[in-house]
Amino acid sequence: MKQQTRLNQSWRQRAACRGLDPEIFYPAAEEDSEVAKAICAECPVREACLEYALTSREHEGIWGGTTARERRRIIRQRRKSA
Ligand code: SF4
Repeated sequence: MKQQTRLNQSWRQRAACRGLDPEIFYPAAEEDSEVAKAICAECPVREACLEYALTSREHEGIWGGTTARERRRIIRQRRKSA
């Protein structure tokens, strides 16, 4: 568990959103997520971020360039193909 935490912190240190206003990544409506998604699109740790959000079932916010609804869809698709 400790190693997993260290790994998580390691990708977070290279996050493009580091130091930015967190509110950008928690828009009031999913339709207002364009700015966050544009930042995520250029982020070097986008895949690690997305996998973290999928694994930890993050129910809010933009993670790895996806909204909560999009992450639920990914989880459903993965379950179907498992
Ligand atoms: S993918 Fe987006 S939310 Fe995740 S670390 Fe990068 S900029 Fe932040």
